[in-house]
Amino acid sequence: MRGGRPQPASAYKRRKVRLPDGTTALRVIRPGFRRLIKRIRTNKSNAVLTVDLDRVVRDPRDLEDLIDVVQERRANVQSITGSLRFTDGGDDAEITLARVMVTMANKSSRDTARRVSAARLRQALHGEFGGGTRPFGFCLGPPKLPQGSTSDEHPCPWHGGRACKAGITPIASETSIVVDCTERALQGVSFKLMAAELRRKGVPTVTGASWSAGTLREILLRPRNAGLVVYRKKIVEGVVAPWKPIVPRHVFDALQLKLTHPARHTGPGPAPKWEGSGLYRCGICTPPGSSTERPVTCQVKEQTRKPRYRCKAHAHLTRDVGQVDRWIHAHILYALTHPRAYELLMPATPDVDVKTLSTERAAIVERLKSYARDEILGRRTPEQVTEATLVGRQRITEIDGALSASVTGDPMADVLNAPDPVAAWAAAPLANRRLIIDRVCTVTILPTTRRGRGGFDPTAVLVEPKHGLGAPPQLAPA
Ligand SMILES: [Zn+2]
Ligand SMILES: [Zn+2]
Repeated sequence: MRGGRPQPASAYKRRKVRLPDGTTALRVIRPGFRRLIKRIRTNKSNAVLTVDLDRVVRDPRDLEDLIDVVQERRANVQSITGSLRFTDGGDDAEITLARVMVTMANKSSRDTARRVSAARLRQALHGEFGGGTRPFGFCLGPPKLPQGSTSDEHPCPWHGGRACKAGITPIASETSIVVDCTERALQGVSFKLMAAELRRKGVPTVTGASWSAGTLREILLRPRNAGLVVYRKKIVEGVVAPWKPIVPRHVFDALQLKLTHPARHTGPGPAPKWEGSGLYRCGICTPPGSSTERPVTCQVKEQTRKPRYRCKAHAHLTRDVGQVDRWIHAHILYALTHPRAYELLMPATPDVDVKTLSTERAAIVERLKSYARDEILGRRTPEQVTEATLVGRQRITEIDGALSASVTGDPMADVLNAPDPVAAWAAAPLANRRLIIDRVCTVTILPTTRRGRGGFDPTAVLVEPKHGLGAPPQLAPA
């Protein structure tokens, strides 16, 4: 840089400074800040109180210098506004908070950064968790020690011992539910069904209330699951949370994309408990071949001793659940065990190189951050940075789209890839079996002509395969 282009006229002066490790580097000069670093380094100050440190530290590299020296000297630093604080060299949360403050200051205008409420942000770091309801997946840490009691009397109720940190230490039984349900939500399993499963298994919620689709949805959409810090309802990019992510970022983004996508359709009402309810069509309201997007389907009234599929709209068609389901199973198992069963798999997503795309995404995010720093340093104009940000964001959106297509799992593939597809089908959760039935065929329950004679008339249940594997000879309609 020396002797190169003339420095742009700017409010900032850059000069060689001595870093805590003794080397020198070019930095934007803020004399007060450098004096502060020096005082701590030379042990002149071990407890520093400043007015508002976040206004002093603008350059992330300055902050790293400060962190280095504070950690080395185990210094105590606090700003009067409370926005920055390092206790005894600073713990993980304090250092992360400091980085957030500087990132925010870099991203947005200084005025915005000044308005940041430090308490709220500190709370955000702990994931909307400020001593209120425990975030699902993380423990509350050990209880406060009452006066005079020993530490082994008050261990963390989830992990024992007193090493956990509230909102940071994961609870494996809960994080595995987040992972599993996120994956299945991506596969299209409804929240109603998954909530019903959690209720059945007796999994407790954090409040003790019973699981609902809404509770589960809200939990799965928490950015903290992907190790993201939220401030004012926005994800603070480029900040590493003090807890480990439960699901990868691109998987979380994919779920968010899927749930906010307008093509999503789930109706109100209780979770289906039957394979065909809401799936099998009423052949009177929706005769075979109707080109309707919204077919009238059948449901099951549960109070009956022998459950029956009934037309949802009219009292004009019912059929025994057990007999219909057995008939459909015969078709499904025929298809699943067909030598060309692989044809049932949806057209595969074009190969997506997850690793390359993730790396590219991270690189763009980094570059955009450095551009923002350059703007503050006067090395780039706001127009250049805005232009670069637009192009970068566009590419990030493309990458996220590609990544989300690749993470969407397929219950059909799970069953077909199992060593024993028949057993895998039988063991699959109801929600997955419904998805598979829907993928394999369209079922229409037709009005029967054998009224009153009892028995089951297979010709009155039309199964139209959605694949090219045909139907088993003995099941083909006569
Ligand atoms: Zn714990
Ligand atoms: Zn009907």
